[in-house]
Amino acid sequence: MASQNQIRQYLAYWFQLGKKVLIRNGAEALLPKSVISGDRYSKEFEECWEKIIAPNSGDCYLEGTNETIAQLLTPAWTIDPCVRCTMPIPVHRVGMPPECCPCFDLPNWPDTEIPKPRSPVSTQSQLLNICNRLINKSDREGKEKMGM
Ligand SMILES: [Zn+2]
Repeated sequence: MASQNQIRQYLAYWFQLGKKVLIRNGAEALLPKSVISGDRYSKEFEECWEKIIAPNSGDCYLEGTNETIAQLLTPAWTIDPCVRCTMPIPVHRVGMPPECCPCFDLPNWPDTEIPKPRSPVSTQSQLLNICNRLINKSDREGKEKMGM
């Protein structure tokens, strides 16, 4: 079963490529202008998510897909990377091969020139990683100089 976190990531990635989520059986389309704010999802994204999981929103699905978000939260579905573009896509676990990826109508996708959609990252832990790498590097170089 796809977890709520996986579904949130799945939507966040596709929002970043301009795909909308249709709610109320297609009567309303959601596309937050910003998806990520620092090390978390943006307030706008969270508001969209609240709408998507609200019981009165009816069937909600990502533009270009047939599966509703509610279906993805059932054990029959999982989120896996697309073989063409590695974007997260819903995959039916039993029997049927995967439906096509929403990337099918993005003519210039996958595009290695533009930054890939991403999840929120903590800048704090990124900085720590960079620091650690630098420390390790100078440590290693120091030892090499001393013939160790
Ligand atoms: Zn794809």
